[in-house]
Amino acid sequence: MIGNWVMRFEEGHAGMNSILGGKGANLAEMTRAGLPVPPGFTITTEACREYYRHGSTLPEGLMEQAYRALAELERQLEKGFGDANRPLLVSVRSGSVHSMPGMMDTILNVGLNDDTVEGLVRATGNPRFAYDCYRRLVQMFGNVVFGIEGILFERLLHELKTARGLEQDRDVDADGWKTLVRQFQALIRRQTGQDFPQAARDQLTLAVDAVFRSWDNARAKVYRKVHRIPDSQGTAVNVQAMVFGNRGEDCGTGVVFTRDPSTGRNVLYGEFLTNAQGEDVVAGSRTPRAIAELETVMPDVYAQLAATARKLEAHYRDMQDIEFTVESGRLYILQTRTGKRSAQATLKIGVDLVAEGVLTPAEAVRRVEAGHLDQLLHPTIRSDAELDVLAVGLPASPGAATGQVVFDADTAERWAAAGKRVILVRAETTPEDIHGVLAAEGVLTSRGGMTSHAAVVARGMGKPCVCGCEALAIDAEDGTFAVAGAVVREGDCVTIDGASGRVIRGEVPLQEAEMTAELRQLLAWADDIRTLRVVANADNPEDARKAREFGAEGIGLCRTEHMFLTPDRLPIVQAMILAETREGRLEALGRLLPMQRDDFEGLFRAMDGLPVSIRLLDPPLHEFLPNLEELKARLEHSPAGVGSLVERQELERLIRKVKALHEVNPMLGQRGCRLGILYPEIYEMQVEAIFLAVQTCLAEGVKVLPEIMIPLVGHVNELKLLREMVDRTAVRVLHGDALTCGYKVGTMIEVPRAALTAAQIAPYADFFSFGTNDLTQMTYGYSRDDAEGKFLTAYVDREVLAHNPFQVLDREGVGQLIEWAVEHGLKSQPALKTGVCGEHGGDPQSIGFCHEAGLDYVSCSPYRIPLARLAAAQAKLEADANAVSSAAEALRPAVGH
Ligand code: PEP
Ligand code: MG
Repeated sequence: MIGNWVMRFEEGHAGMNSILGGKGANLAEMTRAGLPVPPGFTITTEACREYYRHGSTLPEGLMEQAYRALAELERQLEKGFGDANRPLLVSVRSGSVHSMPGMMDTILNVGLNDDTVEGLVRATGNPRFAYDCYRRLVQMFGNVVFGIEGILFERLLHELKTARGLEQDRDVDADGWKTLVRQFQALIRRQTGQDFPQAARDQLTLAVDAVFRSWDNARAKVYRKVHRIPDSQGTAVNVQAMVFGNRGEDCGTGVVFTRDPSTGRNVLYGEFLTNAQGEDVVAGSRTPRAIAELETVMPDVYAQLAATARKLEAHYRDMQDIEFTVESGRLYILQTRTGKRSAQATLKIGVDLVAEGVLTPAEAVRRVEAGHLDQLLHPTIRSDAELDVLAVGLPASPGAATGQVVFDADTAERWAAAGKRVILVRAETTPEDIHGVLAAEGVLTSRGGMTSHAAVVARGMGKPCVCGCEALAIDAEDGTFAVAGAVVREGDCVTIDGASGRVIRGEVPLQEAEMTAELRQLLAWADDIRTLRVVANADNPEDARKAREFGAEGIGLCRTEHMFLTPDRLPIVQAMILAETREGRLEALGRLLPMQRDDFEGLFRAMDGLPVSIRLLDPPLHEFLPNLEELKARLEHSPAGVGSLVERQELERLIRKVKALHEVNPMLGQRGCRLGILYPEIYEMQVEAIFLAVQTCLAEGVKVLPEIMIPLVGHVNELKLLREMVDRTAVRVLHGDALTCGYKVGTMIEVPRAALTAAQIAPYADFFSFGTNDLTQMTYGYSRDDAEGKFLTAYVDREVLAHNPFQVLDREGVGQLIEWAVEHGLKSQPALKTGVCGEHGGDPQSIGFCHEAGLDYVSCSPYRIPLARLAAAQAKLEADANAVSSAAEALRPAVGH
């Protein structure tokens, strides 16, 4: 190593990701493997951290070390940095540990100045090329180092072209670029009072500083938040000798994936441009050519590229995304990284690599990001839908999305926040648009290829994207796009199909996703590995069937209140609540009973042979009654005549009841088992309906495994009382079958006191189901209905909390209560079954916790079942790997003795 901050490519390797960043580690690895990589060195992520520790100043000794590494480059290439006779030019690029495409800054052609540019003219005999390189440097430098808006440079270029009657950048000649260099330099002087630095070393120092600074720019921060990358990580900086893809027609640059990143097919996939520099492909400002055409244009280069791609994929044992440049017919590899891919491709590639003998099933299971499965279960366009296809672009990220057209990221964000579904339509997206992409249902661009910013970012987020749809004439100022003789305005509805590239007018019926063969295979492997059982939160037979299709092993939570909210039942439920007497209440409950029985029969049949956990009524009763303000308004507007007297009396009665049921903190009020104890007839009706359904199903030969779950228990006596009621009802309804049907009675653990007193509660429970929504609410003291809208988002933004605890289970607090309850519950009731049924049951990180805490199952919504099966397997693999490494750790001192 040159010093503590700098490492030459020859010295590093792929395992040094955390210190060299992904790009640096890969450049080092490729250099080692003898691939044609332009030489260079990496400034470490530790240097970046040090930079921020000391108020954004470059660490002492850093640049001296960089110059020493540069001197090596000069020797190697027989060129001089800042030497007008043999100018060495370098690129200065960011490179973080986790890929953050386009989020940070890069400066190319560092080392050019008024003298060395002439040297480059002499060396290449191509003044147009040399001055184009120089203006690119001054432009990037002005923008990145001096913070001058890019549009000011673009405007000067545009004016020059207009003045000279030119259409395209490629029409600008040497004199044009030379003029522009002077104008750009003058712009920098005007805007900053400083000169563009002529000394090559000053350029390098300022460029390194700017790349470090770019770690903290707004778009990088947003990207890190979305992808949960820690702010403290810092970026590495790669300084590398420039090679040029824009020296002439025997030059070019491109991006190639070793497999199709959209479908996963095993074909070389990518794009290139002749006579262009790298950012031309990624930025999407020129629409590139398909990689297959390179075979005709440069057959030797294509053959070498194909061989290199195979070698790199074999080396890294995964699909690679490779950037290459061809300089005067010679191929250079600039970068390789694990390629981002659609969820569909993730699966296909994983399963194929196992079939090819490259990966083991466990490795394939580990590699698939659990969150990606969510994307696979996104809707697609129904095959029988009538489509008014406006245009077809590139199918950049699969899934179909419908929404209202918006033309800028801010509007997308605003409209989405107001509850609208939007499609972000742009000529091309840039990293500044990231918040708009995040807010949109999907993204549509008129320019750029499959590796353009929009495509890469949308794929990473699992959003549908169609790009390079050149038929669209977008006029963002006017808020319209014209296509196929039609004009679509802001707010109009369109549908995009990211799998086929189609852009469709209006809303289109979408269909549910299916389980593909690859997904089934991967999940079958996951099932072999995992020990956590995965069950579903489902309240009706349709959801139950869907859940079963996705692999649910039962129902872990049926929220019976959802059965009370249908239009045919609500009036009966209201009559029950409004009844002044027990008899009146019983009469209404009597009408509800057969309906509930039918509900439960439906669930039991759909889950034949699997456990079904039914939770008795939970929410406060006022939730079933009309809103007080609304009732008052109705009363006010009701006519005063005798004819409407009855109606008025009825309204007044309703208002009295609603007022009587009013609570200041209803979530901490009369709900859950508290309701069941004060109004025993409600729970008795539900339990009777359950056992009647059991009886019918048993008679039909359906294998029923009923579980009755009591919500919101905080004291053992609550469960004791209600369990006695359930047991009594079972005997009353089922007689002798009560014993043989093997029903279970359990409790939700949602109140911290229940967790703390688990040892007392467990003897009365067959299972504990942790309702982590309420448990989080009550542990943190955050109202789950209000916190997100009020302060929680700000808390996460300001890093008071690392995550929203309603999404990712809080291991330290809520997790501790769960661990305590499991440990003490099992001590007093060894057969106790434990699981989680809050939203966390479908979150990969939280599922990891559930595995570690030794729970038996997680329960989540049907669409998250595949994700949960995979996450449960990954949690097991992770825990096994940790156990192996801590065993090895434990052995180490023993071996030393
Ligand atoms: C919970 O609190 O975690 C739970 C599953 O119950 P609900 O969300 O219905 O309150
Ligand atoms: Mg709850």
